[in-house]
Amino acid sequence: MTSSVYNPLGLVSPVIVPAKKLLQDLCQQKIGWDDEIALEELTRWRSWISGLPKLSQVAIPRHLRPADLSEVRSCHLHHFADASQVAYGAVAYVRFVSANRQIHCSFLTAKSRLAHVKPMTIPRLELSAAVLAVRIDRALREELELTIDKSVFWSDSTSVLQYIRNQGRRFRTFVANLLAVIREGSQPTQWKYVPTFDNPADLVSRGASVEELIHQSRWFSGPKFLWKEESSWPTMPKTLKEISEGDPEIKKEVQIHFSSAQPLLDSMIQRYSSWYKLKRGVARLLQFIKSLQFRLRLPKNLTSLPDTWFPPKQLSVEDIKTATLMLPYNHHVSCLIIMAHHELVGHFGTEYVLASLRQKYWIVKGRAMVRKVIGRCLICRRYNVRRGQQLMADLPSDRLTPDNPPFTHVAIDFFGPLYVKRGRSILKHYG
Ligand SMILES: [Zn+2]
Repeated sequence: MTSSVYNPLGLVSPVIVPAKKLLQDLCQQKIGWDDEIALEELTRWRSWISGLPKLSQVAIPRHLRPADLSEVRSCHLHHFADASQVAYGAVAYVRFVSANRQIHCSFLTAKSRLAHVKPMTIPRLELSAAVLAVRIDRALREELELTIDKSVFWSDSTSVLQYIRNQGRRFRTFVANLLAVIREGSQPTQWKYVPTFDNPADLVSRGASVEELIHQSRWFSGPKFLWKEESSWPTMPKTLKEISEGDPEIKKEVQIHFSSAQPLLDSMIQRYSSWYKLKRGVARLLQFIKSLQFRLRLPKNLTSLPDTWFPPKQLSVEDIKTATLMLPYNHHVSCLIIMAHHELVGHFGTEYVLASLRQKYWIVKGRAMVRKVIGRCLICRRYNVRRGQQLMADLPSDRLTPDNPPFTHVAIDFFGPLYVKRGRSILKHYG
């Protein structure tokens, strides 16, 4: 029913807002399509329905520019944006000024959107309305077959005007995205301030009954000041200052200082080239700590490595024996363990080493890691190297000439070596 009201240009958008809001409220209450609605909602619905027939009284001239308006000197678009907790919207007018300074304003289009169910701050809703105004401006410039000299945007929200004019500060993502759309479609100088009582978009943001709409002349013909000279237009409030530091939409600048220091244990691990040597090194270190404790007569609870070397919850030896240990990708210890297993299984290939490893360890990206480590194994490289091939000379032409009878070319093989005595030495001689 709500969407069955024929309203392509948004002429009666303020009337539809209350019905849309009612529908949203009912959806929020999760009422099924055939459930009965509460009395309060029913009253709202009935009063809305009863007003609809009066819509037939709404009449506006079809021509944007009246015939009696002489030669047009300027044609401006004026967009008004406004928002409330219920909805936000924008309305556009075209303003003609003739050569003899006659002014005429006509309603072009309006759009309204319900505020999101999730509560949003008024400045954010106002900014969404401003985005709507910019989008309407773009669509109108494409569709209207008029030469438009200028577009002016009006908002009654000083915070929106502050946001749009701001150059230096960075905003939170939501606001920054909306501002990017606004700045793409308009210049900050095109934005002006309009008091709420003069803002026709106020109707579309709050919603209105049919009677209110009919009696509000500012909706169909624009606010009164638009019919006057530019000098009598509302001016920017003098209190409009720079955005304060405490504005919730401003991104807080946080300075982060960090330094990276390689833990002691890590640098020690890097020095070892085999798993066996690493284990031996750690064992010696533990032995050294124990002897130191004994010599310095330290309390007995200091029997292990410093706490910072291990995660807060220390594992027992039994835990480690039964658990599958997860090892990080590309860590030196992982490389050493893989190499140790590779040697243990007799320099077998990737899959075999991986299967053997997985009985005890789970290495992140294990297959790639094993392949990499095996690729570095010198023994495997030596075994797997391709054998050199003897480079043979070309065959003699006699053996390749066809159609000759057998034994056309006969030769005797070389013989030797024969050992020949010359003087006191024995030499090799060939025949
Ligand atoms: Zn190998």
